Amino acid sequence: MKYPAVTNFIQGRFTGNSGREMLDVISPLDGSLLSTVPLSKSIDLDTAVSSATTAFKTWGKMPIKERVQVFFRFKSLLEKYKKELANLVSEENGKTPDEGLAEIEKSIELTEFACSLPQLVTGELLEVSRGIECRTERVPLGVVASIVPFNFPSMVPCWTIPNAIALGNCMIIKPSEKVPLSIGRIAELLKEAGLPDGVLNVVHGNSEIVDSICDHPNIEAVSFVGSTKVAKIVYRRATQNLKRCLALGGAKNHLLVLPDAIPDMTAQNITASMSGCAGQRCMAASAMIAVGEVDHIIERLCAEARKMVPGENLGAVINKESKARIENYISQAEKMGARVLVDGRNKVVAGKENGTYIGATIIDYVTPDMSVAKEEIFGPVISIMRTKTLEEALIIENNNPYGNAASVFTQNGAAARYVIEHASAGMVGVNVGVPVPREPFSFGGWNESRFGVGDITGKSSIEFWTKLKKSTTKWNPQAGVNWMS
Ligand code: NAD
Repeated sequence: MKYPAVTNFIQGRFTGNSGREMLDVISPLDGSLLSTVPLSKSIDLDTAVSSATTAFKTWGKMPIKERVQVFFRFKSLLEKYKKELANLVSEENGKTPDEGLAEIEKSIELTEFACSLPQLVTGELLEVSRGIECRTERVPLGVVASIVPFNFPSMVPCWTIPNAIALGNCMIIKPSEKVPLSIGRIAELLKEAGLPDGVLNVVHGNSEIVDSICDHPNIEAVSFVGSTKVAKIVYRRATQNLKRCLALGGAKNHLLVLPDAIPDMTAQNITASMSGCAGQRCMAASAMIAVGEVDHIIERLCAEARKMVPGENLGAVINKESKARIENYISQAEKMGARVLVDGRNKVVAGKENGTYIGATIIDYVTPDMSVAKEEIFGPVISIMRTKTLEEALIIENNNPYGNAASVFTQNGAAARYVIEHASAGMVGVNVGVPVPREPFSFGGWNESRFGVGDITGKSSIEFWTKLKKSTTKWNPQAGVNWMS
């Protein structure tokens, strides 16, 4: 085992695992045993919540300009340890070291945004009547929770930790049991940056801890990022318990390719979108709609996809089950009459025979009723459907239940504008394969990709992580003047 057993991080220190059941943490890169992770019990969550509740008494009252100083220092530490963190992300998640580096760079950008929060959360004040003022201010909620998935062990925690904590909350984070290592380094670095004990607590585990978070009477708000199936469970359970909840789910992102798209740029962008992070991104291109005659672009797309070499510039998928599930999708589509133009099945990387690799896969002549057209595959696979018109393409896009991203590749401004207007997705790209809005713009999908109100990052997150206090004050002595006079 390469690393010591993972433990919870409560009240500023790593705890023991006191007889908890442990799961193996396996590296998708080569199948080696990295560590073990505890399946915590609700009593562990109780300890974390009481630590956070105590910490909130001081942290919640500290001026935000002081609180963000921790994140200025945290940002410098992320920069200092960028390479080490990137390698850890790569080892536990399976993405390439370069993709790990990009993830840490994004974590840094998210932290920078949190450092700017004092400029964004100023309240309002107006003299509403002579000598009488109404004022608003944003105040933290208290103890909040963040439940995160396996595909971004550092970036997704950095969607919530910096903003929620800079805004004055204390947090319990529940990492994915598949990738529990990076969060330990994040907690350590935040402590080194000066975060007081108890402000961030890490509780590892599975659905039992998630259920306990949704039920805990002293947790005010729950953010969730993961599959739609679990997003629905968490959203229902947390709101049933009268908590504020924002739950981001899965995706099926469509790229519409028009005949006037620039072939090389389009082919490279689509390949990067469908195969980056081995297709395990909620913003990955999963379906391509070829509108009219675009065979010349599909040809270049196949050439680009063949340049993706598992174990070199293409990482591994998370585990054996995932690899089998993805390969099964490809085989099913083939059986139903689709044509596999580039086949990533049965890839083995020499020297890493136990790694879980799949090559970039392009499936053509997919019809909208096939499961590869409808379901989230979460692997380096793109399904091509063909339509004669843009309207038909948009009907297919609109009929999919998700709504994270959609993109169009064209040189026609009017067509691009039409897609922006008519795509049923929260994030739309024009000639951009992964239309993730960069800070300060916020991240969030529509439909079954997001339950709750608002986005998880950017200015939108301020509303989620705070509540608004309204005060009306009168300090003039006249008896005849009141708030409505
Ligand atoms: P997942 O839903 O399986 O797990 C997410 C979290 O929920 C984990 O911490 C896990 O321990 C917990 N969990 C799993 N099953 C549970 C259950 N039955 N009850 C309660 N909790 C449970 O997701 P994953 O496989 O880790 O991540 C991949 C998914 O996340 C994909 O669907 C992807 O699209 C989605 N995702 C979405 C976004 C977004 O912004 N919309 C971002 C990243 C990932």
